[in-house]
Amino acid sequence: MTILALSDKSLFKTQAYINGQWVDAYNGATFNVTDPATGKVIAEVADLGVAQTRQAIESAQLAMQSWKRQTAKERSNTLRKWFELIMDNQEDLSIIMTAEQGKVIAESRGEVAYGASFIEWFAEEGKRIYGDVIPNTTADRRSIVIKQPIGVVAAITPWNFPNAMITRKAAPALVTGCAIVLKPAAETPLSALAIAELADRAGIPAGLFNVITGLNAPDIGNELTSNPIVKKFTFTGSTPVGKMLMEQCARTVKRTSMELGGNAPVIVFDDADIDKSVAGAIGTKFRNAGQTCICANRLIVQDTIYDEFVAKLTAKVSEFRIGNGFDSNTTIGPLISEKAADKVDSLVMDAKTKGAIATTGGDKDKAGANYYQATVLSNVTEDMRIFKEEIFGPVAPVFKFSTEEQAIEMANDTEFGLASYIFTENMSRTWRVAEAIEYGMVGVNEVAISSEIIPFGGVKESGQGREGSKYGLDDYLEIKYICIGDL
Ligand code: ADP
Repeated sequence: MTILALSDKSLFKTQAYINGQWVDAYNGATFNVTDPATGKVIAEVADLGVAQTRQAIESAQLAMQSWKRQTAKERSNTLRKWFELIMDNQEDLSIIMTAEQGKVIAESRGEVAYGASFIEWFAEEGKRIYGDVIPNTTADRRSIVIKQPIGVVAAITPWNFPNAMITRKAAPALVTGCAIVLKPAAETPLSALAIAELADRAGIPAGLFNVITGLNAPDIGNELTSNPIVKKFTFTGSTPVGKMLMEQCARTVKRTSMELGGNAPVIVFDDADIDKSVAGAIGTKFRNAGQTCICANRLIVQDTIYDEFVAKLTAKVSEFRIGNGFDSNTTIGPLISEKAADKVDSLVMDAKTKGAIATTGGDKDKAGANYYQATVLSNVTEDMRIFKEEIFGPVAPVFKFSTEEQAIEMANDTEFGLASYIFTENMSRTWRVAEAIEYGMVGVNEVAISSEIIPFGGVKESGQGREGSKYGLDDYLEIKYICIGDL
């Protein structure tokens, strides 16, 4: 087993965390966590099942009772300590993340800070959950609206952002007075457990933040979505799994937030600054080796600048250096698994057989089974699978359009609607296109659009609900109307 070079070894946890206790599975079962860069086992983690998931839900319910009665300021102070501890341990958390997820270490450092920012921000915003007094139509009554914590929250999170996808759910849940039971992806449980250790050190009371590690996602997921104690279910992951979990939640009418797949277009008009658009396309395409749900999936470029754009993009992309994320020279790490690399390869093969040209890359990389070359595909057309399917790898297909209407039509020709990007220097066009494209988020001449202060989320089959910002609190609150009559 590879030993990680942590300055604080006690952040390396392999037991699950329930009701403030570190626990093994009842039957002692464990599963392996491997480093995608080397294939080596880095941890054997407790493999829990339904009974312990239920136990966590029940302890969350109990813990919430006194937590929700604390003042917002008290809860905020505790969360603030959690934020500070995460930042104090940024380097160790980044090492754990790169070891289990593969992303380059600089990106891990960035994600830890990004993840922590949600805790900092919600700790502050949690003090500003206002109600309303509604002016009445009759003199003898008063109508009041208060907001209350929704109840026990269950969360399932993916492997591509092992820290931030957790904090952006846990922080608003906790600050509003809820408790949370989390099942992180089996590929990346170590980041979640390290965050739990810091939650414990920050003084977050036992039972409020629980981490269920386990391989049997369907059974654990079924308990989280069907247990009547759980009032809200929040998920980040693939669209097919999200749809199924929503159906499961319908049986007990749980509130759901879903952050699902994307098929982000980057529309580059001929009035854009081409160098800026190439840099932007690279920024949104290749982060985390292309494994983010807001990654550019389709570069849609105006015909008059198509050749110039492809040439400039190809020159830059061919400079990427593929390797282990711990190597400071590396700019693209491995994909999460060989299966993921195979899927990317099958999309590229499909495009090539239908006439696409790889101007750089276009194949698996010699660095190992999980690695894929940074790739640019030109001559890509809408009949290729890559137009419709989420790539989740370092491949940039460049499509061609001639008119603004056509660009909008192409951008909207998908069941997804998460992030989108436009490059243009024309202000009227900016407004026209930003309003016409069916996406939850639009970046104009900017691709680094995500942060704790904005409402992150999608429309259509990319999901529902928003994470981050003042809107991100609403998903964890119930509205209660109180009518005082007979005054
Ligand atoms: P990804 O492509 O990111 O792996 P998934 O939707 O498969 O997307 O996984 C996201 C999260 O959903 C992970 O934590 C995974 O364990 C979990 N998951 C996968 N299948 C199920 C299921 N049937 N029920 C509950 N959770 C699931």
